[in-house]
Amino acid sequence: MRTLSKSKIIAFRQCPKRLWLDLHKPELCDDSASETVFKIGNQVGDIARTIYDSEGTGVLIDIKALGHGEALTRSAKLLAEGHSPVFEAGLKTEGALAYADVMLPDRSDDTLRWRMVEVKSSTSVKEYHHDDIAVQSHIAVSSGVRLSSVSLAHINTSFIYQGDSDYRGLLQEADLTEEALSRGDEVKQWIADAQVVAAMAEEPEVATGPHCTKPFTCGFCDYCNRDKVLPEFPLGSLPKLHIRKREQFESEGYADLRDVPDELLNAVQRRVKQCSVTGDAFFDADGAAADLSPFGFPAYFLDFETILFAVPIWKGTRPYQQITFQFSLHTLAKSGQLAQTAFLDLSGNDPSEPFAKALISACGKKGPVFVYNATFETSRIRELAERFPDLADSLLAINARVVDLLPIARNRYYHPSQQGSWSIKAVLPAVAPELNYDNLTGVQDGGMAQEVFREAIQDETSAERKREIEQQLLAYCRLDTFAMVRLWQFFSGRDEPALQDVD
Ligand code: SF4
Repeated sequence: MRTLSKSKIIAFRQCPKRLWLDLHKPELCDDSASETVFKIGNQVGDIARTIYDSEGTGVLIDIKALGHGEALTRSAKLLAEGHSPVFEAGLKTEGALAYADVMLPDRSDDTLRWRMVEVKSSTSVKEYHHDDIAVQSHIAVSSGVRLSSVSLAHINTSFIYQGDSDYRGLLQEADLTEEALSRGDEVKQWIADAQVVAAMAEEPEVATGPHCTKPFTCGFCDYCNRDKVLPEFPLGSLPKLHIRKREQFESEGYADLRDVPDELLNAVQRRVKQCSVTGDAFFDADGAAADLSPFGFPAYFLDFETILFAVPIWKGTRPYQQITFQFSLHTLAKSGQLAQTAFLDLSGNDPSEPFAKALISACGKKGPVFVYNATFETSRIRELAERFPDLADSLLAINARVVDLLPIARNRYYHPSQQGSWSIKAVLPAVAPELNYDNLTGVQDGGMAQEVFREAIQDETSAERKREIEQQLLAYCRLDTFAMVRLWQFFSGRDEPALQDVD
C-alpha cells in the first residue's frame, strides 16, 4: 500500500483521475497557476510561526532537509515530549500522511494534548477546507496524537499592519474541532477508495466537467481535453450566462453559442450571437458619439497598476489591499496635441502617498478623466483619500471627473473576435489592430506587472534588472492609456487620422 499525502487525498476528492495522473503521469500536469498560491501560502506560514511562537521556543520540521522518514521520526519524538510548539509536524497513519502547520502543546488538564492549527492564506473558511481539516485530524488521531482542539487560521482582512513586524491579529481562528473529529470514518473510506485508484494499472475514465475547476483548477485540463474539438464560439462567450442556464444549454446539446435559439437569449447575448453568425462587428456609431459629446478638453486618460500582499509589508495597510504603485496618464488638448506622463515607484517603500500627490498634480483641475472600468480606479482613489485626509478633497475631485469608457464600449460596440469580453485587451485588436499587447517585451498584463513589481522591490534584485522591469512596466501602462485614447477617438467618430503616441 502506498502512503498518500493529504494533498493527494484531497486531489482524489476532486477527481479520482486527478489522483491517478498525479501519481502515474505527473509530468502532464501544468501547475504554473498554483505557484503564486504556493508562494503566498509560504509567506503566511512563516508569519504564523512568529505569531504562534512569540518566545521562539518552537521547532520547525524541515521536510526538505530531513526527508520524509527523518521528518516523521523527529516529529513523533517532539510530539511525545510536548515541550514546545512544533511547526510542520509529520503525522502518519496506515496509507496516509500529513504535515500539520502548527501544533501547540496543551496541558490544561494535566495530560499532554495538542492544539492543531491549520493555516490558510484565504480570508475565510472555504467549503473545501472542511475536508482538509477532517483528513488532517483523522491522520493525527490515528497516529496516536491526542488533540484538544482543531482550528483553521485564515487571514483577517480588518487587520491593519502597524509596522515593526508586529503581525498579532493578522490571523483569525475558526474552531472546527467537533466537526473535524467526527468525520474519521468518512476519511478512512476516502483513503481506502483513493488506494484502490492509486493501484489501478490504467487511468480511470472520468469525463471533464465543472469538477475540473472546483475547488481548484486542475493542472491536467489540457491533457484531459486534448481530443476535444472546441467550438469556435463556445457558450462561455455569452455574456452574463448563468451557470444553470449554461448547464441547461449543454444538456439540450448546444455547444456553440451560434446554435442557441434566439428566444433563449437576452438582448446582449443575441447581439453577440448575431455578430458571431455573420462575422460582422456591431457599432452604434451615433450612440457612441452622443455618449462622448458632453465631454470637452483637455481630456485625460488614466490607468493604475496595483500590488497586494497577503501579509502587508507597509504600515497602515491591510492584507490583500490593492496598493497603487504606478499610473500612466495621456492628456489630449483641444488642438489635438497629445502628452503623456507617468508615475512608478520601485523603491520598496509604500508608494501610496507619493502616488496620490503625483496623481493630483498630473490630473489638473478640469476636463474629463477617462478610465476603462471605473470602479477599479475610483475605489483606489477613495481609499487613498481615506488614508491621506490632507489630500482627500483633491483626490475626490478627480473621482468626480471620471468618465468610464467601458459601458460605452459594452453598449455601442461588439466584434466577434472579442469572444464575449469587453476587456480593453479584447476590444483594442478589433478597433486598433496595430496596437498589440503581444508586441510588448516582458510585461503584457496586470498579473505580470504585479509579479515583476514584487521582484523589483527585493533587495537582491540587481540594478540592471530593476531598470529592465521599470522600462517594461512603463511601456505596459502607457499602452493601456494610449489604447483608451484610440478607443475614445474611434467612439467619438472623429475623422482625423488615428492619433499617434508621443515619445
Ligand atoms: S481535468 Fe478534470 S477530469 Fe481530468 S483529471 Fe482533472 S479534474 Fe479529472
